[in-house]
Amino acid sequence: MVVARKLSEHLTSSEAEIVLIDKNGRHLFWPSLLWVMTGIREVDDISRPLKLLEKRGIKVVVDEVIRIDPADNKVATKGGEYTYDYLVVALGATPRPDLLPGNEHICAPWTPEGALKCRKMLAEFRGGRVVIGSHDPIYKCAPAPFEAAFLIKYLMEQRGVTNIDVTVFHQWKEPMEPFGPFMVSMFKRFLDMYNIKFVGGKPNVARVEEGRVVFEDNSSIEFDLGIVVPPHEPPPAVAQSELANPKAYNYMLVELPTLRHPKYKNVFGVGDIIEPTIGLGMAGVFAHFQGEYVASQIIDEIKGTFMGEHYNMTGVCVMDMGYMGAAVFCDFKDKLLGRAEYPNCYMIGGMRLFRAVKATFEKLWFDKFF
Ligand SMILES: Cc1cc2nc3c(=O)[nH]c(=O)nc-3n(C[C@H](O)[C@H](O)[C@H](O)COP(=O)(O)OP(=O)(O)OC[C@H]3O[C@@H](n4cnc5c(N)ncnc54)[C@H](O)[C@@H]3O)c2cc1C
Repeated sequence: MVVARKLSEHLTSSEAEIVLIDKNGRHLFWPSLLWVMTGIREVDDISRPLKLLEKRGIKVVVDEVIRIDPADNKVATKGGEYTYDYLVVALGATPRPDLLPGNEHICAPWTPEGALKCRKMLAEFRGGRVVIGSHDPIYKCAPAPFEAAFLIKYLMEQRGVTNIDVTVFHQWKEPMEPFGPFMVSMFKRFLDMYNIKFVGGKPNVARVEEGRVVFEDNSSIEFDLGIVVPPHEPPPAVAQSELANPKAYNYMLVELPTLRHPKYKNVFGVGDIIEPTIGLGMAGVFAHFQGEYVASQIIDEIKGTFMGEHYNMTGVCVMDMGYMGAAVFCDFKDKLLGRAEYPNCYMIGGMRLFRAVKATFEKLWFDKFF
């Protein structure tokens, strides 16, 4: 969507035909799924029909991509076949709750259905142990399980449910470990302030049983209310194509900093579909900056211009934690280019204002595109 919009701003219809293919036909603003869980938003509030982009001269096809053939510059969908001069692959990572054995015992606001299920479970919850964690460490939005924990603690206390014991478990040894010591210390401080426990260094989840999460080493954690982020998968159209990177769970292979496929230079990757290859973590803010950069490269090649857009290797994350919020800014440049172990992160925290900042961004996002 970011790429298509930028292309449509700079290229005339005689310079390019822009086609956006999406199987759902609706753009979902995933961060607000946490607010669907708490009841501040409904699913319709946080999604828009992609067809609205047609007013910008973008052709929107609602269809599922089933095959990508980069050697022939072709994309096959269930309903047809498309040839291209440039292909931007932004098929994301698909949350697959159905792949988690025992999924019926837990919920996860990583899909609209999961967010609504959590809302119902929270409404019926009268106290006890809340356990939140991820099936494995490759999932959308690294801090979101923590944000969910803070929000749930806040929500329950607002409802007068005070006999609540919240634990976050993770494969990382420390909270937010890949983001470096500063972020670890900040998250530990927040967890302490909210009296939320952290259990780190867990293996992946093997299954969920009624009232307990069982890990691959057969250890388990008991819960009265469980949230487990589901396994994520690359769509088969990428995983089974020549674009797949077997060293990164068959997510897409790209080279840095161009975000092009090393063999097929007219094929770009953007967003969650390339994250396991480049190792940043899955976040919309990364997808956004990558999309801007990829679009500018395509525009430059078509028009013979130089837009001067470099790949902005930073990320911003705003968290609503109920009683307060926080904004994180990280510069990943040195990490991505192999010059540092961790990103360089800063945080402004402690103010409730950040809920409003988050809501303002959500509004600006929809206003910008729709
Ligand atoms: C609870 C939660 C909170 C989050 N909070 C934040 C946050 O605060 N900040 C942040 O930066 N990020 C956040 N994220 C992560 C962010 O939403 C994702 O990283 C981002 O959406 C990735 O964008 P994408 O374009 O790569 O993939 P997506 O947004 O997943 O888009 C992929 C698109 O491809 C389509 N598609 C998939 N397969 C096919 C196919 N075969 N054929 C056709 N179409 C297909 C899908 O319908 C979808 O529209 C959060 C995510 C979750 C779940």
